[in-house]
Amino acid sequence: MTLAIPHARSGAAAPVAVPPVTGAELTVPLVDGREVPYANLDHAASAPCLRAVRDAVDELLPWYASVHRGAGFASQVSTRIYERAREVVRSFVGARATDTVVFTRNTTDALNLLSRALPRGTSVVVFDTDHHAATLPWRGRLVHRISSVAALGEALRSCPTGPRLVVVTGASNVTGELWPVPAVVATAREHGARVVLDAAQLAPHRPVDVRALDVDYVVLSGHKLYAPFGAGALVGRADWLRAAAPYLAGGGASSLVTDELTVSWSTGVERHEAGTPNVVGAHAMAVACATISAWGWESVIAHERALLDRLRAGLAAVPGVRELSLFGADRVAVVSLAVEGHDPGLLAAALSAEHGIGVRDGAFCAHIATRRLLAAAGAPGGRAVRASLGLGTTAEHVDRFVTALRSLVTDGP
Ligand code: PLP
Repeated sequence: MTLAIPHARSGAAAPVAVPPVTGAELTVPLVDGREVPYANLDHAASAPCLRAVRDAVDELLPWYASVHRGAGFASQVSTRIYERAREVVRSFVGARATDTVVFTRNTTDALNLLSRALPRGTSVVVFDTDHHAATLPWRGRLVHRISSVAALGEALRSCPTGPRLVVVTGASNVTGELWPVPAVVATAREHGARVVLDAAQLAPHRPVDVRALDVDYVVLSGHKLYAPFGAGALVGRADWLRAAAPYLAGGGASSLVTDELTVSWSTGVERHEAGTPNVVGAHAMAVACATISAWGWESVIAHERALLDRLRAGLAAVPGVRELSLFGADRVAVVSLAVEGHDPGLLAAALSAEHGIGVRDGAFCAHIATRRLLAAAGAPGGRAVRASLGLGTTAEHVDRFVTALRSLVTDGP
């Protein structure tokens, strides 16, 4: 049994433009009784599973066993798979050889782990428009909330002496816009601050390079990266993590427990991975990383760019539709909309029930951003409609969405 992780292709012509995902064959029932192919325009919430990932998971399922602690052959296989997944994730984000790669449940878990590992007295600067996973874990710390990159220098200057951490998101989950990470890092460095990059939305759409960006930590989620749920990672500098109390107390994190329950905690990565780890999830995430890297980012980016341009051009012609934007930057394939005179929840429900299209409506776990952007778009309220595209999206999905939205806006849901 080989449990292969794909490597770079050797110049063979691609059978399709982008790595194939599962779900293309799904059909869904409509209210009128018809059954239509499902158009999943909700990649930003959770992306469909790559076929390569499904196959790799299928192959591993009969073999999984307890890692690190079992002597049996299946345990040896699982341990090798799990540790190899760690190296694949390290390479996927361009991490330093000295960086720690801790497997977590998801991005939220990874940021909460980092928040517990901050040295005493660390000041944290967050952008208030970011996802709640990036803004909330630091409560109980000295937190500075800012709304723009221009305010970062002043916020860092006002921090007391001591460690500092800036939290920045690579791509907004509300607007898809790319944050100017190099500018954030440059300002952070001037003030001796570390930077954590929330790459939950960036990593599925653009290469992430920890060394080139010079960030200290990066966090990501497997389920946004075309793998199933339950695995994420915190990658970054080892020193704070090594010095921190274990994230969870339990087996694996403890190297020796005395009769008096005095504990010697492990000093390696297992310090923060107590309990039986999600070997299948880590493998799935690693196979997703390896598949996308092996395929090449050019085709992924070109595929999404063409669909995004098509979507935006189509939406521009729908009356009353306003696209939300944080700062007019380039974006990954995520678009949130206010539609004048229409309730986002009703629109999303009608898109699903009458057209077989899955979008998200709401405030996207970024309540401040959504409220602020809706107010700026002249559509006060707390909810919008979001369409997010990716490897599972086709031009037909985009056209169906635009046509359906136009008919709902014109005729009413
Ligand atoms: N950060 C961003 C930008 C996100 O879009 C999300 C999820 O939508 C998260 C963090 C949290 O990810 P997870 O739910 O996988 O923990």
